[in-house]
Amino acid sequence: MKKPKDELSARAATLREQLETASHNYHVLDRPTISDAEYDRLYRELLTLEAENPTLRTADSPTQRVGAEPASTLAKHTHLVPMLSLGNAFNEEELAAWEERAVRLAGEEVRASGYTCELKIDGAAISLTYRDGVLVEGTTRGNGTIGESVTTNLRTLRDIPLRLRGKKHPPVMEIRGEVYMPFSGFERMNEERVAAGEPVFANPRNASAGALRQLDPKITATRPLRFFGYAMALPNGEAPPAAKQSDLLELLISWGIPVAPHHRVAPTLAEVHAWAAEIEHKVRGTLDFAIDGGVVKVNALPLWRELGVVGGREPRYAIARKFAPDIAETKLLAIETNVGRTGTINPYAVLEPVEIGGTTVKLATLHNFDLVARKDLRVGDIVQVKRAGEVIPQIIGPVPDRRDPKQPPKAYKPPKKCPSCGSELVAGLDLGMLYCPNFECPGRQLESLVHFASRGAMDIRGLSYARIAQLMDEGLVHDAADLYAIGPAQLVELDRLAEKSAEQLVAAIQESKAQPLSRLLFALGIDHVGETVAKQISKHFGTMDAIASATVDDVLAVHGIGDKIAESLVAWFSNKKARKLIERLEKHGLTLEEPQTQTGDALKGLTVVITGTLPTLSRDEASGLVESSGGRVASSVSKKTSFVVVGEDAGSKLEKARTLGVETIDEAEFLRRARG
Ligand code: NAD
Repeated sequence: MKKPKDELSARAATLREQLETASHNYHVLDRPTISDAEYDRLYRELLTLEAENPTLRTADSPTQRVGAEPASTLAKHTHLVPMLSLGNAFNEEELAAWEERAVRLAGEEVRASGYTCELKIDGAAISLTYRDGVLVEGTTRGNGTIGESVTTNLRTLRDIPLRLRGKKHPPVMEIRGEVYMPFSGFERMNEERVAAGEPVFANPRNASAGALRQLDPKITATRPLRFFGYAMALPNGEAPPAAKQSDLLELLISWGIPVAPHHRVAPTLAEVHAWAAEIEHKVRGTLDFAIDGGVVKVNALPLWRELGVVGGREPRYAIARKFAPDIAETKLLAIETNVGRTGTINPYAVLEPVEIGGTTVKLATLHNFDLVARKDLRVGDIVQVKRAGEVIPQIIGPVPDRRDPKQPPKAYKPPKKCPSCGSELVAGLDLGMLYCPNFECPGRQLESLVHFASRGAMDIRGLSYARIAQLMDEGLVHDAADLYAIGPAQLVELDRLAEKSAEQLVAAIQESKAQPLSRLLFALGIDHVGETVAKQISKHFGTMDAIASATVDDVLAVHGIGDKIAESLVAWFSNKKARKLIERLEKHGLTLEEPQTQTGDALKGLTVVITGTLPTLSRDEASGLVESSGGRVASSVSKKTSFVVVGEDAGSKLEKARTLGVETIDEAEFLRRARG
């Protein structure tokens, strides 16, 4: 039976209000209150309701407009051509229906032209105005017709060319694309925010949108933002300088505009389906940035005008092929803890099993207690969980509307005792961290050994978590040095271990002695000494002896190493038990030296300081070049400095060099010298 009109109209009003509030929180405040999947579901319901009952479609319905009104503090910009949203296809049938509609309107030429398939970057849409190839303005999408001018902020993005390469640029044009934040940068930034006592961002999209609309460009500059372009708009309906979307992407690339990888021309819809399946199931997990689908576009650009736009909102020539969301909502059943190798107590979430992007998620990491408190996670909450690529599932936060205001769950209290050995926990140097101070805590030792044997560390094949736990239970192993004393005979006596496997395991342990110093240093599991840091330190000092006797200042001289790492490293080696462990490892014949990877000696014996932003090299690349050319990088200028490489915005180091009369050179000269 059909529902009465009043009921439908009331439902439409509720949906409009819910979507409008969600959209304001998402687009204007950059603080979403519901997941995208939930938003899309409500949106579809309203769309269907309006399609079946056109009188319910009001002018202010969210289905009739793009984005949200621009915020008032920034200058406004009217786009040459409106910046549109996209229609969605959630499966192959919906995509086929889109093709059918386009063919009905523009004929078989649509099929004949084929389609471009592009990644749908989940960032913030922007428009860049270029006059004669020079960037003059950059804006947000705003409400689609009027955006906010954020030019100075956008100029801080290295990806965005201030002047286009090549020639024959249209005299005025807007390049459209997406500003996004890579996962790696997003996570680093959130960690830094936690350390600085600032609130974390919900997801990279909101972090990018927020960073773009900062009033202070210096803040934008510190955010790890990147850009991909995908479209062009011209004034007065001028024809684009390409006949196909695929050629346009190539043209953008030739002008120096970064274009997202994995774009392809698919001659048929079947090939579009195959591309989408590959991206969703194989590629998505390998990307360092968020995508929420693919965008399929009719390849022949002249057909775009013919196909037109639906309701001033969605072009008919393109459609978003959305993927299953990698964010889901589920119940937080418990917050439990385990002991890490450095004694850290790590909280993690036990979840009601939920399917995200094809896998069932039951556990999620919580990082530290400060994060739990900041996100105000409470056992019993409905939470949003994200599984981005191969990253371990993470909890974005509780869904605010889903907590019963009358009976909220109790706030979470961190534990006081170690879950493994029962020792009283102590607060760590890092905010929100608790530590088990017991060096011999079995939980800690088990984790240290698992880390010691792991792939990036000593890479001992066959020495699994369960095997290490068994060796510890049998009393055969207490620490890393004990591993090297085990013989096959002892192993054979263990349960479930055949002679051949025992021999293989001993051989694998013995082979690991040849691993270079950097691997061993990382394997020791010193707080803050990750894989890259271990490599930098080993390369700099060359031997374990030199590292063990280094002072905090010595360690700080290694480029890129800060106070926290230096103090942690020196404190670790000052512990008698640690020194004893190193001695025993040495007796077993482990490698305590780093092979030198120097490829040239153009800078041999020279000490170089790098300051400011170099035009092409990143800091790490420049330091790498100094080291591979036989030189040494120092962090501060002194009389011993051979020369200072100076980039844009150099500050006190440049002044100091001038005062001391130390030579200063630019990047070009530096490259010439380093290459000899
Ligand atoms: P959309 O994000 O679904 O798609 C349109 C946008 O895709 C374009 O504007 C463009 O910025 C982007 N895009 C990325 N790659 C592209 C490419 N290669 N070619 C063309 N465009 C590309 O639509 P929208 O209007 O920006 O936002 C609506 C979506 O935002 C909803 O589907 C929902 O998921 C989300 N949303 C969520 C909430 C919430 O509360 N969680 C609220 C409002 C909107």
